[in-house]
Amino acid sequence: MSLRVHKIKSQEFVGKEVTIRGWVHRLRKQKENSFILVRDDRGGVIQCVLPTEKASSLTVESSVEITGSVSQDSRAPEGGFEIKGKDIKIYNVAGADYPIGEFQSDELLLDKRHLTLRTRRMIAIAKIRATVLDLGRRWFIDNGWIEVTAPTIVKGAVEGGSTLFKLKYFDDEAYLSQSAQLYLEAMIFSLGPVWSLTPSFRAEKSRTVRHLAEFSHLEAEAPWVTLEDILKVQEQLVSYVIRTIVRDRAEELAYLKRDVSDLKQVEPPFERMPYEKAIDILRSRGVMVIEEYGSSREIRSGDDLSIDSERELTKDAERPMFVVGYPMAVKPFYVKEDGERKGVGLAADMLAPRGFGEITSGGLREDNIVSMTERIKSEGLNPAAYDWYLDLRRYGSVPHGGFGLGIERLLRWITNVEDIKDTVLFPRTMSRVAP
Ligand code: ATP
Ligand code: MG
Repeated sequence: MSLRVHKIKSQEFVGKEVTIRGWVHRLRKQKENSFILVRDDRGGVIQCVLPTEKASSLTVESSVEITGSVSQDSRAPEGGFEIKGKDIKIYNVAGADYPIGEFQSDELLLDKRHLTLRTRRMIAIAKIRATVLDLGRRWFIDNGWIEVTAPTIVKGAVEGGSTLFKLKYFDDEAYLSQSAQLYLEAMIFSLGPVWSLTPSFRAEKSRTVRHLAEFSHLEAEAPWVTLEDILKVQEQLVSYVIRTIVRDRAEELAYLKRDVSDLKQVEPPFERMPYEKAIDILRSRGVMVIEEYGSSREIRSGDDLSIDSERELTKDAERPMFVVGYPMAVKPFYVKEDGERKGVGLAADMLAPRGFGEITSGGLREDNIVSMTERIKSEGLNPAAYDWYLDLRRYGSVPHGGFGLGIERLLRWITNVEDIKDTVLFPRTMSRVAP
């Protein structure tokens, strides 16, 4: 039976014979002995020493099974344990032209992503990602929300037409879903608070470090809630994920050199910054807005918050904050208007600290059929495509709300990686659909 490396690296195995399986991560052949750093199928690595005559055909990434005795030697890399190899079985001698080494361009690493995933950096990120997905699910399950899955082939836009992926659907036309929200709204009438974790698709035409064409969207919707209720759910969810990831993925975060001192301070309540105050701060710091045709002007009330504005607002913060009460004009058709302040939407975004910016967006949904139909028309959308959605306002409408969290946005902040492409295993962007 073969064992994983992390198990073997302990006193109780010293002097015992073990078998491990894995791949040649690094290789140094000397006259008598070869030093093989073997990586197992969970990314654990250990040095194996073998007579060079038994290892002469080996190359980096060859797959092997090595049997030998465990010894402790402070000179051994990766924790001071090594295996004095007796036997080796070689499954496959990897081609000598293995393209991933130490100094590759980012583009090559992306072109060869199916191989780059074997680097320890990507292994660490993949493990953190798996745990974040697990924790997101677990929070909702533990708090009594019901999981649902919505279709990803749809007829209606949720976030505006410019980022819709169109597809041929038999003899008709359909779109890839930008958000499960409208379907989640349908489900609250029979299931109460619901959540889903599904891919969302956006044909993002601008290149940024925080937009993918396909991302993992954790979404939730609940009946009978206030905006404050929805904010509380988000800050509790995010705090739980952060608190637990710092504990359960300490090794991987350390590998990525992520100093987690700021993450340790993340706990509710998060600041609620009124939109108008955000604009005042940005104006006082001279933040400019780029208009169409490239001219720029000072930011003013009514503007959406750009990536730059969000960076400016959060660059010195250690904890996330909510910006609350965006103008209706910059938010989608389903946002509910504040009854006391015309033109103000009951909508809030959560911005991650240290410049990372938006990670969630949510609020209350318009529940009045007349206002909703008007909004759909004024945004140039086809009311017929939303007829089923309008039924939710025709038959037993209730105040309700929810939010969507981008898993990769959250991961960017947790791992402190610059480019969102590195938080997903096979990224999709405007210029990349392969591998
Ligand atoms: P942005 O202004 O950054 O484009 P958005 O307003 O389009 O975001 P929403 O439609 O509110 O975002 O989506 C909810 C959440 O989904 C966002 O807060 C973000 O975390 C995530 N998200 C949105 N678009 C993308 C994308 N292209 N790639 C990765 N995550 C995204
Ligand atoms: Mg967007």
